[in-house]
Amino acid sequence: MRFYYKISNTLHIYLVYILVIFAHMKYVYATPSQTAHITQHKDITILPINNAKFLAGQRFDFLIEIKDPTLNPANASSTIQVTINDKNIINYFNKKPKIWRDGDILSYRIDSISFNDTGCIKVKVKTPNSLGIATYEVVYNKANRKAKNVILLIGDGMSLQAKQMARILSKGISEGKYNDVLEMEKLDRMALITTSGYDSLTTDSANSASAYATGHKSVVNAMGVYADSTISPFDDPKIENITEILKRKTDKSIGLVTTANITDATPAAFVAHTRRRSEQNMIAQSYLDLNIDVLLGGGLQHFIPKETKGSKRKDSLELIKFYRDAGYEISKTKQELFTQAKSAKKLLGLYHNDNLNVYLDRAVLKNPKVLGEFQNQPSLLDMTNAALEVLSKNKNGFFLMIEGASIDKQLHKMDWQRATYDTIEFDQVVKIARDFATKHGDTLVIVVADHAHGASITGTYHELDGKSGREAVRTYAHSVFPTFVDNDNDGFPDDPNPDITLAVQYANHPDYKADYHFKQEPMSPTIKHHGKNIANPNMKGEEYRGNIPTEEDQEVHAADDVVLMSEGVGSEYFKGVMDNTEVFFAIMRAFGIDGR
Ligand SMILES: [Zn+2]
Repeated sequence: MRFYYKISNTLHIYLVYILVIFAHMKYVYATPSQTAHITQHKDITILPINNAKFLAGQRFDFLIEIKDPTLNPANASSTIQVTINDKNIINYFNKKPKIWRDGDILSYRIDSISFNDTGCIKVKVKTPNSLGIATYEVVYNKANRKAKNVILLIGDGMSLQAKQMARILSKGISEGKYNDVLEMEKLDRMALITTSGYDSLTTDSANSASAYATGHKSVVNAMGVYADSTISPFDDPKIENITEILKRKTDKSIGLVTTANITDATPAAFVAHTRRRSEQNMIAQSYLDLNIDVLLGGGLQHFIPKETKGSKRKDSLELIKFYRDAGYEISKTKQELFTQAKSAKKLLGLYHNDNLNVYLDRAVLKNPKVLGEFQNQPSLLDMTNAALEVLSKNKNGFFLMIEGASIDKQLHKMDWQRATYDTIEFDQVVKIARDFATKHGDTLVIVVADHAHGASITGTYHELDGKSGREAVRTYAHSVFPTFVDNDNDGFPDDPNPDITLAVQYANHPDYKADYHFKQEPMSPTIKHHGKNIANPNMKGEEYRGNIPTEEDQEVHAADDVVLMSEGVGSEYFKGVMDNTEVFFAIMRAFGIDGR
């Protein structure tokens, strides 16, 4: 109101203001489907974005960025009006904003607030030159019956086709009928999950895991934050995630298990807040700060001081020592893990400096050249058993996220055989989770991918009639069944390179060479040449011209929907076509917990 009072007092200023207002007044109102426009192109950016959905009581940072060089932070409290459901924001949250200018952009921020009442929220931002509106939804859906434990299994990059490759290799097919389905395919319920971020169609593992962990979409490389306009990866407005809510509101234990670096995007998104997933040293610290009970995977490199060989830290911090002081049992081999799991209350297991080796290299080929000094890595099954042993000691229950990480990493390298063996390993972990749920009850088991890859099964491949390369790809009626056998009944084919194998082809790839055979040693599909990625000349086979930019050194994610399968208490909340953010709300509903 002071604004109108001022302009009516001075005729001169009045006229100037009117001109400015009519020249620049922009009504930034977005319908739900226009969300991206608000954040990308307009003068007022409201974060969380329009169309965001909150769990009641879920904490978040609120930030408005206004691109308007005429606004002065000194008198911003009178020139910028921010209301929540027509009530002044300062009175609504009982918290004062921080207001500052950086270049063209004026920022208006209130940290750590929440909406406690369910329903519709309308945020209105009014400056002399523009108007911004964002509409939110706040929910809390009561559970029919509460889950004590939730086991969330994420097959990273496990597209529908990747899952089917595992079914063909693991179960086999007779007269066109599969001999069996995968363990994950035996779960009661199924839903289709859409995976886009709020500013791009194709997502990455940080952004997609963040949607599962917070119920909010983000941008590629980001987790637990909305992306502001500054470069810093640490100042973006945060949104509270599932583990923070559980730690704040309950006495449940939390576990994260992965075959990647434990600080890699998927596990990290359940704890950390950063615009840049590569900040893995910070993420290693975040786990300790939040007192995550079980952490098993690779990534020793982010926990040891820079002076130690192999370290990726930039400081001399011996993070492992801080974990030990905080009561964690620390293991670096599978034997140590087995011993510690019996007695430990908190576990930190780091079994490789980087990502764990894939199943084929770690458990089948065991090539010392490939494994290096990490000859005693546990399997994903070993880590899952240990995590469940420790977590189930808590009578209040737990949340456990288990990631099969190399399904994605190997599909990037267009090594579908290594990806598929890891998918089978992941599927065997689903059996462990199901058996646990059967024995203990009160447990929700969810199996889902975070995004897809463009790898597809064209048919089969063989050279039995002397043909090779492209001419030996068997399509339609020529696609005789593959000859994978599993004589030792361990669920994995005995030979990853049988006479008749799958013809797996990629929809989105750089220049690369392929001979369709299994590669005894992992190889990169490309090398860098004059600043561009070209086919690795050491690969055998025919060369295929890429169809993605030459800056990409490997196959990239696809925007395809992914499948979710669920069973147990609360599994009924997963059905139909769901946005990836809805997975969070369904988990919280199953737990019967909100943020209030
Ligand atoms: Zn990926």
